[in-house]
Amino acid sequence: MDDNDFGDFGSDPYEFANVIGDGDQPLYPGCRKYTKLSALVNLYNLKAKHGMSDVCFTELLILQGDLLPEGNTIPTSMYEAKETLCALGLSYEKMHACPNDCILYRKKYEDSTNCPTCGISRWKEGKDSILKEGVLAKVVWYFPPIPKFKRMFRSHETAKSLTWHAARKSIDGQMSHPADSPSWKLLDNKWPEIGNEPRNLRLALSFDGFNPHSSLSSRYSCWPVILVTYNLPPWLCMK
Ligand SMILES: [Zn+2]
Repeated sequence: MDDNDFGDFGSDPYEFANVIGDGDQPLYPGCRKYTKLSALVNLYNLKAKHGMSDVCFTELLILQGDLLPEGNTIPTSMYEAKETLCALGLSYEKMHACPNDCILYRKKYEDSTNCPTCGISRWKEGKDSILKEGVLAKVVWYFPPIPKFKRMFRSHETAKSLTWHAARKSIDGQMSHPADSPSWKLLDNKWPEIGNEPRNLRLALSFDGFNPHSSLSSRYSCWPVILVTYNLPPWLCMK
């Protein structure tokens, strides 16, 4: 994470609330089953599940806008749909990477065309073994967590839950929360400026490789990365 991550969404603190308010509108006048937001999230899930292209998705949105009763709130373009989802914290960045996973082409490597470690090109090699300049060899999708953390502090209820670990009464000799663990106490003692502020987030990172539904060829590898916020009470932190 770097300072740039903090810049996201910072200019308008009410934008998120506006989007939520906007998303609460019924999909069309009188519709009780779907809101603008729930319809969009369902459609976007379909797009992701079936690998629908952006062009196809836009055409589908336009058709649906036409099929639904007048006054419907369905976005009419991919751009509008993305804007709503990004404001909800579902934004992502695409980063260029070395095909051998040595570096990301950012900061001092922003303009490099070859990996400084293994020397391999940033561009993809065609079937004729000629490099296709501008066609990336590898792209990493990065989901910045900081906008999601900001969201957590925007909700009064969640913000209160984030200090639950400091407000609760611990039971002697029992470990009911990571806050009872020696490593948590070690952190409090070693870095008191972090430990003394209960709103500071304590995160656990866990990941492993898997092949969803065994439906991908073995050339593909998916690694779910799970970030757990240990500040929350036990009934929320594993949700
Ligand atoms: Zn490399």
